[in-house]
Amino acid sequence: MTKSSDQLQLIPPYCPNPRCQFHFGTDSRFYVKNGWVKTEKAPFRNQRFKCKSCGEQFSTNTFGPDFRKRIGFLSERVLHFSMNGMSNNSIARLLKVAEGTIRDRLKDMSHQSLIFEKENYPKKLTEDVAYDGFETFTYSQFSPCYINTAVGSHSMFIYHNTFSPLNRKGRMTLEQKIKNQSLILKYGVYPRDSVFEESVYVLNNLNSIGAGRTLFTDEHKSYQRAVRSLDFRMEHQKINSQVRRDSTNPLFPINRLHNLYRHFFSSQQRESISFQKHEAALLEKIQLMKIYRNYMNPKFVKKNKYDPHAHEWSPAMYVGVAERLLSFEDVFGVKKKVSQIRLDDKERAFLNRSYPYSRQIIAA
Ligand SMILES: [Zn+2]
Repeated sequence: MTKSSDQLQLIPPYCPNPRCQFHFGTDSRFYVKNGWVKTEKAPFRNQRFKCKSCGEQFSTNTFGPDFRKRIGFLSERVLHFSMNGMSNNSIARLLKVAEGTIRDRLKDMSHQSLIFEKENYPKKLTEDVAYDGFETFTYSQFSPCYINTAVGSHSMFIYHNTFSPLNRKGRMTLEQKIKNQSLILKYGVYPRDSVFEESVYVLNNLNSIGAGRTLFTDEHKSYQRAVRSLDFRMEHQKINSQVRRDSTNPLFPINRLHNLYRHFFSSQQRESISFQKHEAALLEKIQLMKIYRNYMNPKFVKKNKYDPHAHEWSPAMYVGVAERLLSFEDVFGVKKKVSQIRLDDKERAFLNRSYPYSRQIIAA
């Protein structure tokens, strides 16, 4: 069956009207068919529906990833190319669309994927977790940052990936010092305690589902402060950073993941010449990478003799929130609305692309 005929058969999963009683879905047939509309692109027609309760009209397209998009079936390719290290610019050239279209699709998918994740997230930790930061930068070396990452020791499930801007420190040439000072004069310093604050957020969330499990970190002071600030019911084990990070080191899962990121971020850096990079774009890609790795791909590409399912099972399968590798359709096929889920402040800021400390103008 082709994708377009699939779409024609789609049964409306909920009423798009946020004030309707059927907005959160129902088992009953809450709609009536309400004719067809012609479309310019395949499948050339679109089933229309009307909600029996509130009268809202909608169509099959309302729920698809290409809803209100000029070019159909583009998002899936954008996702795969982007998650495999291609820059937005190269994807745009390959698919013969504007770079803004690529950015727009990535933004939409990342926001959509957050809603998917909220509904398909482990309710209880069934394993220990390693937590550490990966240092990279947005826009330029004067804006270093940390990607605070929590990974399952066994599953490699990425529980959290949050962002902390850092102030540039350490050795600089005179010229760099002057540049750094002028940026600070113009924009102010980045928040000084972001690693601590992000760690409180991540560890608090882990703590709420992980009583009795172990959290592994290095001896970073911010992590210890974060643990002390919480009513922490996990065991916290600090690993000396001098200890070699081979596969017996509890922080090894972090390193493994960061090796993958490095490939991804090196492609990010090449983009700095072609577009104004913004924290929002970076975070959106990190969010997508989390979904892509957790739900849509096996834990490891290659067979592993100690872990016979590693090349077949996604991290989500290990932690019991998926029964198979999920397809693009599984994750993005049914468009959901923000009004259908409960969000915390950080998640809301993500969807609003709110980055008060950013030094960059967001590209429209
Ligand atoms: Zn309705």
